[in-house]
Amino acid sequence: MRTLQREEVSVYVGLGANLGDARQAVQKASGDLAAMADTRLIACSSLYQTAPVGAQGPDFVNAVVHLRTRLNAIDLLHACQGIENDAGRQRPYPNAPRTLDIDILLFGEATIKSEKLTVPHPRMRERAFVLLPLQELDAQLVSPNDLQFVRSQAIQKINSMPD
Ligand code: AMP
Repeated sequence: MRTLQREEVSVYVGLGANLGDARQAVQKASGDLAAMADTRLIACSSLYQTAPVGAQGPDFVNAVVHLRTRLNAIDLLHACQGIENDAGRQRPYPNAPRTLDIDILLFGEATIKSEKLTVPHPRMRERAFVLLPLQELDAQLVSPNDLQFVRSQAIQKINSMPD
């Protein structure tokens, strides 16, 4: 049974895809996230094209989505994994190319370290494809030091996500 939070929590979720129609997959995922129970979409970043970091295959399409949800963190993770599975996500080997990857970046102010979930996402500050779209949504969440750290990573804004 799902346990709802009493209050809505502000959540930032990272999306990435580099197999099939990656742009379409990321755009569809933002709609699927918005349609989750007890959750509403606040904003989507632009789409970005990035070279793979610690992964293989073609360039990625990435974006970050801001949600407000009453789901608890584990239920949110499970809902995100359901969306990945519906997009045909397979895990033949670590860091394989993927039709869709969804990471929970920030869950309110929470720090979570459990077997299934680590939040804030442990690698989010190492990745330009997280920090640039996150900065678009809330500049206060990204520091100049963060941006300096990822400055050598190849990344290009490709468009604004349609409403
Ligand atoms: P991946 O194969 O990249 O989709 O990794 C998913 C695995 O990472 C799952 O087993 C999750 O339980 C785990 N995980 C840990 N922390 C997070 C997080 N913040 N967001 C998404 N998945 C997470």
